[in-house]
Amino acid sequence: MHIYWTKINKIVQEASQVRTYMLDCPEGFKWEEGAHTHFALVGFNAGDRPNRKLIRHMSISTLPYERSIGITTRLKDQCSEFKTILKDLEVGDDIAIFKTHSNVPLKRGNKNVYLLSSGVGLATFRPLVLKYLNQTADIKHIYSLNIDSSREFLFSDIFQSAPDKNFTTRFVTDRHGYYNKLKHLATDKEGLFYIVGSDEFLLQNIKVLQLAGIKSEQIILDKHASQLPEFLSDDMSV
Ligand SMILES: Cc1cc2nc3c(=O)[nH]c(=O)nc-3n(C[C@H](O)[C@H](O)[C@H](O)COP(=O)(O)OP(=O)(O)OC[C@H]3O[C@@H](n4cnc5c(N)ncnc54)[C@H](O)[C@@H]3O)c2cc1C
Repeated sequence: MHIYWTKINKIVQEASQVRTYMLDCPEGFKWEEGAHTHFALVGFNAGDRPNRKLIRHMSISTLPYERSIGITTRLKDQCSEFKTILKDLEVGDDIAIFKTHSNVPLKRGNKNVYLLSSGVGLATFRPLVLKYLNQTADIKHIYSLNIDSSREFLFSDIFQSAPDKNFTTRFVTDRHGYYNKLKHLATDKEGLFYIVGSDEFLLQNIKVLQLAGIKSEQIILDKHASQLPEFLSDDMSV
C-alpha cells in the first residue's frame, strides 16, 4: 500500500457547514469517478498501529482533469476529534491519502440512471455527473434526487437540469417528498439506481425499490462487494 502525502491547496465553503478541501494531486495518484479514499491526518501512522481516530473514508468529489483532489464533508458545531482537527487545517497543511477505489463507476448500458443521495452524499455523484455531461453516450437519461434538510443544496452549478443533455436534478428537504419522488422513479423497471448516504438511508431506499419490483442487480451501492449481501438480498422484508 502506498501512502500519498499531499497538501491542501484550497478550502471551498460550499454551504454553512460544508467544505471542500482541495488537495494537490501527488505524482502517480490516479482515480476514477465515484472513487473513495482513506483520508488521514498527520500523526495517523505515528504509532505501531494506524490511529483510526485520524482516518476517514471520503469520496473524491472531483475528476482528474480538474487537477485537484476534492474532499467534501460536513463539519457540524459538535463533531468528532477527526473533524475538530480538520476544521483548523489551512492551505499548505499536509494530508495523507491511500487505498483509493471506486465501487460506483458510471455504467453505460443505454439505461436511465438514477442517482439517489442524502446530504453530502451528492459529493460522490459529482464526478459521475461531470463525466456524463462531458460524454453522454450510451446513457438514456440521468436523474439526480438529493434530500438535504439544511436547504443549502450543494454543487448547484453542476446539478442543474439540462434537458438538451437528458439530465434532470431535484433537491428536496423532507422525507415525505423524497420517498414520493422515489416511488415515482421506481416505476422505471429497467433503470439503474445508485444510492449514497447513511446505512439507514440505503436500507430505506432499497426497501422502496424492492417493493416496486426493482432487482438487486439494478441497485448500486458505495460498498465493497463483501458488504453487499448485508444490504441487497431479494427478500423485500429487509
Ligand atoms: C465509501 C465511503 C465514502 C464516504 N464519503 C464521505 C464523503 O465524501 N464525505 C463525508 O463527509 N463523509 C463520507 N463518508 C463518511 C465518513 O467516513 C464519516 O463516517 C462521516 O463523515 C462522519 O465523520 P465523523 O465520524 O468524523 O463524525 P462527525 O461528522 O463529526 O459526527 C457524526 C455525528 O455525530 C455527532 N457527534 C460527533 N461528535 C459528537 C460529540 N462529541 N457530541 C455530540 N455529538 C457528536 C455529530 O453531530 C454528527 O451528527 C464516507 C464513508 C464511506 C464508507
